[in-house]
Amino acid sequence: MERARPDVASGVDVPKTMLTEQLRTLGVAPGQVLLAHASFRALRPVEGGPRGVLAALLEVLGPEGTLVMPSWTGRDDLPFDRATTPASPDLGVLADTFWRLPGVKRSAHPFAFAAIGARAEEVVSGAMTLPPHAPGSPVDRVRALDGRVLLLGVGHDANTTLHLAELLAGVRYRVQNAITLVRDGVPVRVEYGENDHCCQGFAAADGWLRAAGLQAEGLVGNAHARLFRSRDVVKLGISKLEAEPLLFLHPADAGCEECDRARASTGR
Ligand SMILES: [Zn+2]
Repeated sequence: MERARPDVASGVDVPKTMLTEQLRTLGVAPGQVLLAHASFRALRPVEGGPRGVLAALLEVLGPEGTLVMPSWTGRDDLPFDRATTPASPDLGVLADTFWRLPGVKRSAHPFAFAAIGARAEEVVSGAMTLPPHAPGSPVDRVRALDGRVLLLGVGHDANTTLHLAELLAGVRYRVQNAITLVRDGVPVRVEYGENDHCCQGFAAADGWLRAAGLQAEGLVGNAHARLFRSRDVVKLGISKLEAEPLLFLHPADAGCEECDRARASTGR
């Protein structure tokens, strides 16, 4: 269902003051640890472009707050360098703009997150985990800090925190992925099993969070936004997965190759 987007049609930028007001209304507040997954395409046009959106988020979080965004590489065939490797194109222009801002810290491994603010170092500085979003990873650190997750113009299919819930619930599906690490100065291709699939099934989290009254929703710029606590979605995800371990995967007859691969790995 497509909402009317008068600002896009008229080409008028959403002013930064409106963005900050919308974020506050949604529930973003000073001092929070906020993990943001965002689509600039859904938000635009906004004053100041991508940097304007990031500035609005930082203004609302204030000096005691922490903004976190995914920042992993899209290349499994090249070593990751946190100072130069672009964020995966899948993560969008906001994520790739964010890690380049002055003062932003970025993980030293290919499954990087970037963060700025009071708790930034704690969130991004841990050792790499495999699978990438396992306990001890940046998403888990956000949860441990009682951080919020903001989905800005994206749905729960972008909600990486649900991969943490999968692992905590003990799901058995793993697909074979690879990454290039540098060991003793030499690039080495490392294969690993990841709890991965098409992620469309993550949309079920909307229903769980709404039913529990744990998800705020509203307009930010021209985008639909969702805000919830990391620990709430993890807790709900674990309880649902314990009852139905394959609930995030498309049914076997749906023709989804990614989900079929995941299901096959469990022998079902
Ligand atoms: Zn699927």
